[in-house]
Amino acid sequence: MTAQIIDGRKIAHVLKAEVTAEADDLRAQGTSCGLATVVVGDNYSSRAYERRLGRIATELRVRHEQVDLTADITQDEVLETIRRLNEDPAVSGILVLRPLPSHISEIEVFRALAPGKDIESVHPENVGLLALGTPRFVPSTAASVFHLLDAWLDSVGEDRASFYHRSLIVVVGRSNNVGKPAISLAYDREAAVMSVDEWASKEGRLGWHTRQADVLVVAAGVAGLIRAEHVRAGAVVIDVGINPLADPATGTVHMVGDVDFDGARARARAIAPVPGGVGPVTDVWLIRNTVAAARAANRH
Ligand code: NAD
Repeated sequence: MTAQIIDGRKIAHVLKAEVTAEADDLRAQGTSCGLATVVVGDNYSSRAYERRLGRIATELRVRHEQVDLTADITQDEVLETIRRLNEDPAVSGILVLRPLPSHISEIEVFRALAPGKDIESVHPENVGLLALGTPRFVPSTAASVFHLLDAWLDSVGEDRASFYHRSLIVVVGRSNNVGKPAISLAYDREAAVMSVDEWASKEGRLGWHTRQADVLVVAAGVAGLIRAEHVRAGAVVIDVGINPLADPATGTVHMVGDVDFDGARARARAIAPVPGGVGPVTDVWLIRNTVAAARAANRH
């Protein structure tokens, strides 16, 4: 079997058109959509992600405010910045990028966010709403996983509900920002759900779990963790991992996923690759949430 490729770039392209139309519609009604990204310190990946989001926001005609704070800023100053953004009518969505420096309390910063502007659903109220199956905003990476799955099911003419109802979804990785929200969304689709983390690997049980998966979502941050022998024949594999890998010959760094693509492709029915799978949709989803936040704020 050679798996179909789930083309995230193509799916993101369609989503971009929808989000742009929605943002244009709101602007015509006098409502502004604005994304504020907050980075504390000099983390290379956070800055790169912030620049990429800025480019996409501009492309989708959404305002972007980049708030770069120095690593020696105090907790109170960060909270003051969040309060300013909460009050700013030009900002409809706020994203605080991780990691924060160790002297800043992540949970206190997340608690300070206005829930209606918390587009990545990190405020405890939004985490709770997501767990209850009534999310205000669906966090972008988990949303992207299921958007890809839904789009692929539509493309092959399979009924979404009956596919999920008969499927076991195994999620590898259990972080607050990817694994757990993905598990919540799998519950919402009324699938059978299994969640594993690094202990499954340490105990030599990873393959035992993953080989049962009809849908295997991998978000561990370990390059090549999932190989052909971890994949059930005919499974659908969604690779979330993004790992920098240097070519030993040239030193050039490129990004690879958590899944050995060639090995898994030979066994799976469909696979979302890295790059070109989850990533492109994640970025657009965040802007989509920013626009949705503007619309919701305008209703009050
Ligand atoms: P994290 O480090 O916060 O969490 C990793 C999780 O994987 C933990 O639950 C850990 O126990 C588990 N894990 C680690 N090693 C494992 C192993 N050997 N076997 C099984 N489980 C293991 O990471 P995160 O923020 O959840 O991100 C995971 C990956 O997804 C990273 O590569 C990250 O870059 C990527 N990511 C991609 C996107 C995207 O848009 N494509 C967005 C966010 C994160």
